[in-house]
Amino acid sequence: MALIVQKYGGTSVKDLDRIRAVADRIAASHRAGDQVVVVVSARGGVTNRLIADAKALHPEPDDRELDVLLSIGEQETIALATIALHALGVPAVSRTGGQAGIFTDSVHTKARITEIRGGDVREQLEAGKVVIVAGFQGVDGHGFTTTLGRGGSDLSAIALAAALKADLCQIYTDVDGVYTADPRIVPDAKKIPEIIYEEMLELASLGSKVMQSRAVEFANKYNVPFEVRSSFNNNPGTIVKAETSTLEDVLVRGVACDKNQTKVVVSDIPDQPGAAAKVFRSLAEAKVNVDMIVQNVGRQGIANLTFTVPADDAYRADRAVNECLAKLGAGSVSRTDRIAKVSIVGVGMQSHSGVASLMFSTLAEHGINIQMISTSEIKISVAISLDQADDAVRVLHSAFELNK
Ligand code: ADP
Ligand code: ASP
Ligand code: MG
Repeated sequence: MALIVQKYGGTSVKDLDRIRAVADRIAASHRAGDQVVVVVSARGGVTNRLIADAKALHPEPDDRELDVLLSIGEQETIALATIALHALGVPAVSRTGGQAGIFTDSVHTKARITEIRGGDVREQLEAGKVVIVAGFQGVDGHGFTTTLGRGGSDLSAIALAAALKADLCQIYTDVDGVYTADPRIVPDAKKIPEIIYEEMLELASLGSKVMQSRAVEFANKYNVPFEVRSSFNNNPGTIVKAETSTLEDVLVRGVACDKNQTKVVVSDIPDQPGAAAKVFRSLAEAKVNVDMIVQNVGRQGIANLTFTVPADDAYRADRAVNECLAKLGAGSVSRTDRIAKVSIVGVGMQSHSGVASLMFSTLAEHGINIQMISTSEIKISVAISLDQADDAVRVLHSAFELNK
C-alpha cells in the first residue's frame, strides 16, 4: 500500500464532467489499495475572475481581503470533488488548507509555509478515506486565511507530500509533462522524460508556468521527487528529481518565456554614487522584485536606469520610484508593458562556449532586437518586444535543435 499525493490543476477540474473524470482517476487509485491525498486548484478561470472583480472595485485591493476572496475558488472544488467521489461510492472528505494544518506567515497573497501539521489527514487516511485538500491556501498565526502565490496549488501538493512522506507525488495538468518549450507556442516541442530540480526551477522561474517555481524550490530543498503528467490521458509524464541518467550532454534543456514583465525607465537621475542605491532601496522596501538592470553611461552628470519588474508589481514600483525621485529632487519614471523575457536554460551551458553567441545571432537573423540581457551559469535571458516573443521562442527552439 502506497501513500500517493495527486494534484489536479484548474483545467483538470474546470467543469462537472472534468470533476467526474478526476473522481474516476482518484477512485481507481483508491480501489487499487493506495492511500490517496488529493490537492485541487480552483476551477479554470475562477481565480482570475475573482481578482478581476476585486480590481473592478479598487485598483489595489487589500491583500488580506484578496486572500479571503481567492480561497473560495479552491473551496468550491474540494467540496464538488468530494461529492463526486461519494457518488462513486468512495469514502472521501474535504479539508481546507487550514484544516489540513498548512501554516504560513502573514504575507497575504504570497505567504510562505512555516509548518505543516497535517491536521487529521493521517487519521482520515487510516480510516480508509480519500482526503481532498484545497490547494493554494493556508492559515497564519491569527487563524486568517492566506494564499501561496499564483499557481500555489503545486506548492501545497509538494509540501503535503514532504510532510506526509508520500511514496509518490503526481502533478496532473493539461499537458503530458514538461516540454522543451510551451507546446502551445512551439507545436514540435518535445516532452522531457526526466529533468533535474535545478533546470526545472530555472524554467519555472523564467515563465514556464507548468510548475510554480516556489513548489520546485520546496521539492529541491526537501528532496521530493514528483511527476508532471496529464489528467486527460495515461501517457507517462516528466519525472523531476535530483539526478537524471541521461547519457548525452544536453547544452540547452528548454526555452522559457515570461510575458508578464514590465520595463521601467528612470531618466535623468544624478550620475553620482548612491543615486541608484536609493532607487533600488525604495523598490526593495516596497517588496518589488527587480530583475534585469541596465544603467547607461552618465552624460553631463545625468544617468538613466532601466530595469524589469513582474507586471503585478508595476503599480507599486512606479509609486516607490516616484516617492524616491521626489526626495532626490530629480528624474522621471516611465514604464512599458510591451516586453517579454525569453530565456534558454541548461546546466550543460556551464561548460560550453558559444551558447550566448548562437542565441544572439539567431535573434539578430530574425530581426529581433535585444533590449536587455541577464545571465547566470545555467541560463541566458533577454528582454525583447512582446510582439516578437513567440517568434523568438520558436527560432531559439530550432536553433538549439530542441525538436530533434
Ligand atoms: P494547471 O492548471 O494544471 O496548474 P497550468 O496552466 O498552470 O496548469 O500549467 C500548464 C500549462 O503550462 C500548459 O497548458 C502549457 O501551456 C504551459 N507551459 C508553459 N511552458 C511549458 C513547458 N515547458 N512544458 C509544458 N507546459 C508548459
Ligand atoms: N487557483 C490558483 C491560481 O489560479 C492556484 C493554482 O491554480 O495553483 O493561481
Ligand atoms: Mg498551475
